[in-house]
Amino acid sequence: MSDLLLDMSQSPLFRQAVKGLGLPLPTPQRLKRPKGPRVERPLQDLAVVVGGAGHLGPTLAHTLARAGANSHLAGIAADAAWTDAGEAFGRPPRAATDEVRAYALVFDATGLADGYDLRALYDFFHPWLPRLERCGRVVVCAREPSDLTRAAAAGAAAATDGFTRSVAREIGRKGGAASVVFVGEGAEDRVEPLLRELLSDRTAFLTGQPYHLSADVPAPAAVPLVRPLGGRTVLVTGAARGIGAAAAEILAAEGAHVVCLDRPGDEGPLSQTARRVGGSVLAIDITADDAPRAIASALEGGVHAVIHNAGITRDKTLGRMSPEWWDQAVAVNFAAVVGINDALLSGPLSDGGRIVHLSSVSGIAGNVGQTNYSASKAGLVGYVRALSGAVSQRGIAVNAVAPGFIETRLTQAMPAVTREVARRLSALGQGGQPRDVAELLTFLCTPGASGLTGQTLRACGGMFIGA
Ligand code: NAD
Repeated sequence: MSDLLLDMSQSPLFRQAVKGLGLPLPTPQRLKRPKGPRVERPLQDLAVVVGGAGHLGPTLAHTLARAGANSHLAGIAADAAWTDAGEAFGRPPRAATDEVRAYALVFDATGLADGYDLRALYDFFHPWLPRLERCGRVVVCAREPSDLTRAAAAGAAAATDGFTRSVAREIGRKGGAASVVFVGEGAEDRVEPLLRELLSDRTAFLTGQPYHLSADVPAPAAVPLVRPLGGRTVLVTGAARGIGAAAAEILAAEGAHVVCLDRPGDEGPLSQTARRVGGSVLAIDITADDAPRAIASALEGGVHAVIHNAGITRDKTLGRMSPEWWDQAVAVNFAAVVGINDALLSGPLSDGGRIVHLSSVSGIAGNVGQTNYSASKAGLVGYVRALSGAVSQRGIAVNAVAPGFIETRLTQAMPAVTREVARRLSALGQGGQPRDVAELLTFLCTPGASGLTGQTLRACGGMFIGA
């Protein structure tokens, strides 16, 4: 779907006119998105300015050098960790000088002990934030507040959340994205894959939210950086179009065999998706009584991950909503998903597997005319949290992704004015593309995402609504 304001905003003349006339019009930045599958060095030759003091220095040094970035240290000594990593990957650390234009700013906040220490955030970001390039990245790494016994230290760690959300709003109009990563006890080895992802162009539409890394799910034996899903089978429901079809494409590009499921009436577009990605077709209504058994038996040979993407809206204010519309939305979006997971968990889903659900910002914030939809999507948030603990020892991670406004058939059906407002009510000032959500869904299926479980992650461009 085209976004006229976003298209016009790319013209310098238009931007100048809006500025000159003082028009109250946002001029969103077109986002940089990836051109192909994952590569060995996603940050090749990009300048990353690093600051802060904590215990993550060696992890940051290794991650950045291995990803091909040039690390510029601001107020940090180039100790053995930095020089060794730099030598190993031919990327010696440099001092952050005034000439540097930063693609990304990374701050190690794991050493913050109290409110006074927050000054370090100001000291680092005050000079560097204005020198961040368009579509740049900010990542702050802090300790998991609930792991800290000293309340002042827990508060200082938690402060990075509010800080990062505000930074996200400041840099959003220039297409920049900011995230905070809370690193739990023993989860330091899970930082690298997530940091690579957050610094790459795959996360163009993810901004203004925390990621909680834990060691709850045992780490996999190997974490391939390229073709991370090679040799694995992934089931995607609702794959005929929209986010599901985009997920099928990106999963396949990362090496997966994709089983594409959609309703029997949608076999035409479903087969097209499957053909495009070299996958297979499963025409099943997920709310049918025998769907769990039929899906489990179709996947008899084993499945590594399932993405529960099929979803519907049946919008009406509650007083006008028929019981059928209530039942349909709740059944497709939530109730049927549970039965399918039960059948997969006691059947073909392998240990070390992944289960990902599509929630929604409406499930987090609520929305007029969507009591049924919001209840079902909030139900998934609680379900994911509860199920993750029950299966973590099998190495299975369970998460949800909550999209904000994404340009698909679902949002095309919205009234024009509501649609326009929804697009602009976010840090990035624009709707997302199906592939923005698909990139996050794909990452959550990879071995490298083992540190994330029980979470609901937003793909919403920093929407102003919801927590
Ligand atoms: P879409 O309507 O383009 O695609 C949804 C697919 O699910 C369709 O192909 C449909 O046939 C399939 N489906 C519906 N009921 C089914 C059933 N009973 N059995 C099998 N397949 C069924 O929607 P989309 O925008 O791509 O959304 C995908 C998911 O993301 C949904 O769960 C939706 O709630 C969620 N989401 C989307 C947005 C957005 O802005 N587009 C925002 C928040 C959440």
